[in-house]
Amino acid sequence: MEAISKNLTSSLKKYFGFDQFKGQQHEIITSLLNKEDVFVLMPTGGGKSLCYQLPALMSDGVAIIVSPLIALMKNQVDAIRGISENNGIAHVLNSSLNKSETKTVMTDIKDGITKMLYVAPESLTKEEYVEFFKSVKISFFGIDEAHCISEWGHDFRPEYRNLKSIINKIGDAPIIALTATATPKVQEDIQKTLGMQSAKVFKDSFNRDNLFYEVRPKVDQDKQIIKFIKQNEGKSGVIYCLSRKKVEEISQLLQVNGVNAIPYHAGLDAKTRSKHQDMFLMEDASVVVATIAFGMGIDKPDVRFVMHYDMPKSLESYYQETGRAGRDGGEGVCIAFYDYKDIEKLEKFLASKPVAEREVGMQLLSEVVAYAETSMSRRKFLLHYFGEEFDEKNGLGANMDDNMRNPKKMVEAKDDAVTALKLVQKTNQKLKLNDVVNVLVGKETSITKSYNLKSDDLFGTGKDKEDYYWKSILRQLIVRNFLEKEIESYGILKITKEGIDFISQPTSFEIAEDIDFKKLLSEGSFDKEEVTTTPIAFDDALLKQLKDLRKRIAKAHQIPPFAV
Ligand code: ADP
Ligand code: MG
Repeated sequence: MEAISKNLTSSLKKYFGFDQFKGQQHEIITSLLNKEDVFVLMPTGGGKSLCYQLPALMSDGVAIIVSPLIALMKNQVDAIRGISENNGIAHVLNSSLNKSETKTVMTDIKDGITKMLYVAPESLTKEEYVEFFKSVKISFFGIDEAHCISEWGHDFRPEYRNLKSIINKIGDAPIIALTATATPKVQEDIQKTLGMQSAKVFKDSFNRDNLFYEVRPKVDQDKQIIKFIKQNEGKSGVIYCLSRKKVEEISQLLQVNGVNAIPYHAGLDAKTRSKHQDMFLMEDASVVVATIAFGMGIDKPDVRFVMHYDMPKSLESYYQETGRAGRDGGEGVCIAFYDYKDIEKLEKFLASKPVAEREVGMQLLSEVVAYAETSMSRRKFLLHYFGEEFDEKNGLGANMDDNMRNPKKMVEAKDDAVTALKLVQKTNQKLKLNDVVNVLVGKETSITKSYNLKSDDLFGTGKDKEDYYWKSILRQLIVRNFLEKEIESYGILKITKEGIDFISQPTSFEIAEDIDFKKLLSEGSFDKEEVTTTPIAFDDALLKQLKDLRKRIAKAHQIPPFAV
């Protein structure tokens, strides 16, 4: 055992130049070399790749590494080739290779030169490859980003589903599965699908104690973003948006305001994308505005902030994306802009999906709402989601979120919660959230008219409170599972059994008092004159400014100017 250990440490130094293992790498690699199945749950940046790369280099035969993205595979292969004079030590096998390239790969494997072969799952299923793999020695199978197997993950890929049956066809070798998604559901799914229930499980803490989490109401968000960036001049950051259009808009907005920002999304051609990625890595651009296409495998250690212009579709995505901040252990500020309307848009989008996907999607979204609206420690909330306990008073990073720094003022809303529940119960699955609010504040609409709700004794009982107050009560009722939203009908509310019980036996129901964000913003030291927030109303002067800027950027980086 000691011999293996010594050998491991010297190999680590020899191949990667590191003096010691990170986290549980040593134990993980030892288990794999002992031919055990291994399951690794480690946050982004934890050092998962090395857990299969080092044992692959130390083993007889070739390790087959399944990875979802061609770009990711290429990065890794380039990195591995960098540590050896032998170019054949690592190869990629996917649809991007031509015939002669494929042949070189196969010859190198046959000759025992190749230690690591990265494959896309759909390539692995090809009959001819399966036959070929049967004829060579496989040291082990590595399944990176293994959450892609699970519908409960944030990045389900159907091609991952069949992996186990193909692995069985190819032959017997240990499996190492790795992911940064650790919800108990996904974990169980992965182990079951890969038939590795008795695998050794290694789980690192998912607590990123240097990250600061904050959720802000999505009000004047453009100004908020510019203000933040100006106050953090020169720091690197990523701003995630859900649509390509938004990405273009926001990157223009920032450019016009003098921020060195570039867009990144799958609608840009590969060359522009890789150029932009390089510009960000080389610090020629301080801010990337991107869709989720940006980031898998990006390893820039000093990203100082990650903003979510739109809330993501799941907390796994949120965690992954915010995880790109502060990888060097230094400052990392994570700000998400939340507006319940955005959630409703995403829900509508789900309505057209098959039932299973829709239900999973709704569940994931409701967790996002709960997170955004919670008044508890955000770190505790996130870690709980990943099945981890966290002591919000003394744990590492305990004071590092908005709720813990500035606890929200809570108000008891038990009676109002009961009133809202009663109304839903009475109207019996007819009304959507906004309709319920309208009845409570006594606003006549076509819906209230069509059901003749004006005569109901609950009509207008809540008119002394604002709409937003009732909306937040209703959302909390959904989050706490007292109400359910029917997605087929775009959100008609239904009372649950728990809701009925609550009416007869109400317990405490506290909600956070809303903050007046507009006021907060105007009180800041921020000079509004500095900011142009409507760049998309292209007047001539602005257009010229934009064109010049783009030309300058293009010239500096020898790329064709962007189309304006
Ligand atoms: P993950 O896949 O878990 O997100 P990576 O495999 O990309 O993480 O590794 C993240 C970073 O950690 C990389 O820059 C890698 O070189 C570095 N790293 C991995 N293992 C070690 C180690 N033992 N010592 C120092 N740095 C390491
Ligand atoms: Mg990785």
